[in-house]
Amino acid sequence: MMERKSRINIVGIPVDDVTLGDALSVFEDLMKGPRLSLIATPNSEIVMMASKDPSFAEILDRAELVIPDGIGLLYASKMLGRPLKERVAGIDFAQGALERTAQLGYSVFFFGGRPGIAEKAAENKRREIPGLRIAGTRHGYFTEEEIPSIVEEINGSGADFLCVALGARKQEQFIDAHRDALHARVGVGIGGSLDVWSGSLKRAPAFYRKNGLEWLYRLKQEPSRIRRIRVLPAFLANVATQRMKEEL
Ligand code: UDP
Repeated sequence: MMERKSRINIVGIPVDDVTLGDALSVFEDLMKGPRLSLIATPNSEIVMMASKDPSFAEILDRAELVIPDGIGLLYASKMLGRPLKERVAGIDFAQGALERTAQLGYSVFFFGGRPGIAEKAAENKRREIPGLRIAGTRHGYFTEEEIPSIVEEINGSGADFLCVALGARKQEQFIDAHRDALHARVGVGIGGSLDVWSGSLKRAPAFYRKNGLEWLYRLKQEPSRIRRIRVLPAFLANVATQRMKEEL
């Protein structure tokens, strides 16, 4: 595979320095691979979560591609003197990956969200992206015992590409844990994207996105996210500590 990315370390977590275009090229390469690859799209809260959870950090270490979603990671990379090229919103990457899936004749499975959300998202995306084949959908609420039948359902659909929306950590864990059992070639954790695609959550307007304020818009729509955003000062303090240690 052509090397289209370089990996930097932010508070012990790997993050790939890719533009949206680079990430989509890597996606295409991975779709031709022999087995399931994992793509993660963490923001700074999720990087912070991983830095406190060694098993999640290992999953991200094993991921073939870790896309920097979130303005916090851009700031962090600047503080570390290794500035990332750009912020790539996970949902923009996922949208681009769906378009390539349609162009290349692959099919996709949507797994996650509350009952009805994945179906509605599929209906909207089929209408919007000509030729997109959605092989199947399944909601994201299940017990441990149901997992083998979910894996079977995904495999039975014949999907080449798997979008998993179970929220951070759970979605990456699912893909990583079933790398050998799943037949799809790429699995990506897409967080709340199915909620947006289904129309049940709104994406931030252009003004917020351009000014690095998407997090503020999401906070307005889902005030309970404050709990997650509260870790950001500690994240930046940890980045500053990393910088100081590297300078010693
Ligand atoms: N979700 C799910 N199963 C679960 C927990 C969450 O399908 O057991 C879904 C939830 O309905 C939502 C998404 O996962 O659609 C979580 O989105 P969020 O924006 O919180 O993702 P994050 O930012 O954590 O990646």
